[in-house]
Amino acid sequence: MQSLRPVRRVAELGSLAVTGSVAAIFAFKCGKCSKIHEGSPSFGYDAPWHYSGLSVEERAYSELKSDTCVIRHDEGVDRFIRVVLEVPIHGVDKPFMWGVWVSLSEKSFTRYLETWDEPDESDSYFGWLCNRLPYYEDTINLKVQVRPRRGGLRPYLELERNGHLLAEHLCEGISIQQAQEIAERMLHDG
Ligand SMILES: [Zn+2]
Repeated sequence: MQSLRPVRRVAELGSLAVTGSVAAIFAFKCGKCSKIHEGSPSFGYDAPWHYSGLSVEERAYSELKSDTCVIRHDEGVDRFIRVVLEVPIHGVDKPFMWGVWVSLSEKSFTRYLETWDEPDESDSYFGWLCNRLPYYEDTINLKVQVRPRRGGLRPYLELERNGHLLAEHLCEGISIQQAQEIAERMLHDG
C-alpha cells in the first residue's frame, strides 16, 4: 500500500475573512468526521508507486531519498524526482497540493541534480507521473513537463491537456466543493 499522509498544514487558522474579491483560507466541515478541516489540502507520497512494489532485496539495489529515487533492475535504471502538482481552488489563495514523483530520462535527471543549487527556470523536463492519485482515473504514466524553480521550492508540473480529469483540473482549477470531496477521500479513505 502506498503511504499517504498530509505533508503540510497551513498555519493561518480561524481566518475566513475575504479580502476584497480574493481568496479566503480554505476550510470546510468534513462530511466524514464532522470536524472542521482548515488550510488548503496538501498530500504527499513518500515514494514513487514503482518503489512501493519492490521486494526488500530489490530495495537494497535502489535508493530512496527525500527528493530523488533510483531503482536498479535487470533491464536498467529508473530515475525519479519528487515534484509538486498545484491545482488552483477557485476563490481560495492557496492551491490543492499533491507531492508526487515523476520519472525522468538519465539526461534530465543528471541536469536536475547538476542545477540543484541554482535551478534554471527555463528548463523543462519531460517525464511520466509515477503515483496513483485517488479520485482520478489512473494517473500512472500521465505525460508531464517538470518546471524547476528557485527559492528552495520543489519543481511544479504541467500536464499535457489530453482530456484526463487531472489535467483539466490543473488547467482550469477546481471548485471548493470538489476540493472538499477530494480532501475527504484522501483524509479518510486513502
Ligand atoms: Zn474529516
